[in-house]
Amino acid sequence: MTRTEKLLAELIALPSVNPAFVPSGGTSARQTRQPHPFAGEQRVADFCAAVAARAGLEVEFQPVFGVRGHVRALESGDMSPQSQIGCRNLIARLLPRNNVRQTILLAPHLDTVGADGTKFIPQRKNGRLYGRGACDTKGSVAAMLSALCELANTKSRPLETEIIFAGLIDEEHAQAGSRALVKGLFTGSVRSSAFRRPAMDVDRSNRLKAGLQTADLAIVGEPTRLQVVTAHKGSLWLELETRGVAAHGAMPQLGKNAIHEMARIVDLLETDYAAQLRKRKHPLLGTATVNVGTIAGGVQPNIVPDCCKISVDRRTLPGETDAGVQREIAAFLRARKLSAKIFNSKLAPALPLETNPKLPLVRQFLKSAGQSKPLGVHFFCDAAILSAGGIPSVVFGPGDVAQAHTADEWISLAELERGKDLILKFLKSLP
Ligand SMILES: [Zn+2]
Repeated sequence: MTRTEKLLAELIALPSVNPAFVPSGGTSARQTRQPHPFAGEQRVADFCAAVAARAGLEVEFQPVFGVRGHVRALESGDMSPQSQIGCRNLIARLLPRNNVRQTILLAPHLDTVGADGTKFIPQRKNGRLYGRGACDTKGSVAAMLSALCELANTKSRPLETEIIFAGLIDEEHAQAGSRALVKGLFTGSVRSSAFRRPAMDVDRSNRLKAGLQTADLAIVGEPTRLQVVTAHKGSLWLELETRGVAAHGAMPQLGKNAIHEMARIVDLLETDYAAQLRKRKHPLLGTATVNVGTIAGGVQPNIVPDCCKISVDRRTLPGETDAGVQREIAAFLRARKLSAKIFNSKLAPALPLETNPKLPLVRQFLKSAGQSKPLGVHFFCDAAILSAGGIPSVVFGPGDVAQAHTADEWISLAELERGKDLILKFLKSLP
């Protein structure tokens, strides 16, 4: 068993389900305020911090008082500071031998989607490792952290490049971790007493904060089958609401049926509007898409419904803005004499990613991965947030997104090892 495989097995055995995906808000949870046994990234963050500290990296935690802290506090009704315990990004840094000339971020997320208890027992079978998070994205965590720890103990570590492993929280829900990282919400770092090094002084902490925000390249860990990805789609969620007039079901002519109007809207979005989107193509991403995901309306059969709502998932292309798409749909409906109120229902914007593949560090990373052209993927991830924050970002990691979020999530162990080797090779090639 290699060190990377062992590390991944240990990570799978430490549940880190995003708290948004475990049962909460029920009466018993409210009464006891006990966190769900699988919830939260802290176990994994602490474990990775210990691994990094043993390899000689500087370790720090960044408290995240962001989207999730707020959302979670609102949901539980607990507005105390304790409600935010556990919301911390892990920052582990390898300093170069000389002064820092550039900074590379290795940025996988630490949370996973939910699973039953059996999925936290890693199972090795036919060259694969099974378990929740195996490919999304503890495989990337293991590959990146092992590469960095190995680099820390070789003579060929970079002279002028600082490398920061940023274990981010909350990617699967509202990306509070990456949002906090680029906003530099370092309201005071927290050092675990497990590390017997002297606490970081204010100056060094400020330099670290600056390094994070002005990093020259972020490699965001997600399952891309070891392909370097420079573009992904954004994700916009809209709620549309039609209003009618209620009336007795025996005299529907006295009312106005909100469901009927919405049915026409649903039909047109899925046909004409979708066809309109298929006319615009992005070279790496193909076309934008639209999906009507939920519908609700009406009270009972003998009442003309006065309200109907749908929720729509619209995947956006680079160059599109959320407000622009909202205007586009409003105009599309107006032109067909239909009207609906449109709300953006995302907790926070999830924009598309497009990083210039000609940037020197991106080219160098492509070269290390033996790839001539970059790729695009459909799924949204932290890369767009880091990129919007000013850090050129690519997505890269072992595993296939086809296995992510599935009941029998797995990763190829050969690919995991190759991922670690590729990252190490790239890091060693840096000045
Ligand atoms: Zn992921």
